[in-house]
Amino acid sequence: MWKKDSKNVVKLDRRILLVGVSLVVVLLIVFLTSFFKAPPSYYEMGGFTLGTYCRIVVSSKKGSKVLAQVMFNELERVYKKYNPNDPSSVVSKINNSNDWIDIDEETFVLLDAAVRFSRLTDGAFDPALGELIRLWGFDKIAEKLPSRVPSSEEIGEALKRSGVDKLELDSQRRRVRLIDGAKLDLGGIAKGYALDRAYQVAKEVDKDCTGFVEAGGDIRILGPKFGSRPWVVGVRDPRKSDSAIAYLYLTSGAVATSGDYERYFEVGGVRYHHILDPKTGFPARGAISVTVVADNAVTADALSTAGFVMGAQWEYVVLEFPKFGGSVLMVTEDGSIRRSPTMVVYEQAR
Ligand code: ADP
Ligand code: MG
Repeated sequence: MWKKDSKNVVKLDRRILLVGVSLVVVLLIVFLTSFFKAPPSYYEMGGFTLGTYCRIVVSSKKGSKVLAQVMFNELERVYKKYNPNDPSSVVSKINNSNDWIDIDEETFVLLDAAVRFSRLTDGAFDPALGELIRLWGFDKIAEKLPSRVPSSEEIGEALKRSGVDKLELDSQRRRVRLIDGAKLDLGGIAKGYALDRAYQVAKEVDKDCTGFVEAGGDIRILGPKFGSRPWVVGVRDPRKSDSAIAYLYLTSGAVATSGDYERYFEVGGVRYHHILDPKTGFPARGAISVTVVADNAVTADALSTAGFVMGAQWEYVVLEFPKFGGSVLMVTEDGSIRRSPTMVVYEQAR
């Protein structure tokens, strides 16, 4: 009897032990799976560079904070290199010479892209408007806004020293030359380029990182929120800074907006803003805001500037821009909204 009991006690002890161990294992599995399934947390970093406020929101298993810093440094590097107001920049070096200047591969590729966008947009995008932009006083971002409308003679003179036809690229010897006193201004594409570079350096560190990087409203997506959800990007109402006219749902790619509300002054009730029409030498008329969604930020940035200049030619924009990968949302001077058919895709919450 006693023997039998003692055997049962041993069996009972084993059973309790087994149940205990299994319970611990189950709890461990539950804990571990919930830990790995937990949505990644996002690290946010903001600061001034590229002449505007920039924001990085990133999540990476390799370390979000370090990645954000690497990305921010890259934005700064690009800004320093292509800022026409920095005497040590590559753009200043090119602008201060009237002879051929040898350039590095990165600069050649960027200038080549700028020239291509100029051709694709029938000259609406123009990377060699430095003299015209200076005449209007929109060159000094840090200083106060201009308040004088230049005379037609002054504009005529500045136009003679402006335009992509005065920019020569020599692909054989990787060099560039500006003729007739023309000056580069990459303000309509540099922000997009910086965003694409920030994306690139982030992906080199961690190809699975997610989040986005933003420069003054232009955005490059790194990857979907929590790995699967879209980021919701509001398109600002050009006449009401605190409200949106549309929402875009993006899991990849980029979006850029050009508007007449960014930098402008008014004289006699007329608004003079910083996006100039290379054909007239005056601020472009027709659109008050143009938003472009594209695969990359360079395309979105260059096309939003070009689309803005072409505000009065919606037919061209709607037919041509999708060929270069751009979906467009335009607000015209009378406040009406136009969208290319492909834009609708991004406006649907998925
Ligand atoms: P923002 O920089 O305000 O987002 P854009 O991307 O449209 O707006 O860039 C505007 C800047 O581009 C101007 O400040 C100027 O440096 C430059 N720019 C002005 N007109 C043109 C143009 N027709 N083509 C290319 N760049 C331009
Ligand atoms: Mg632009």
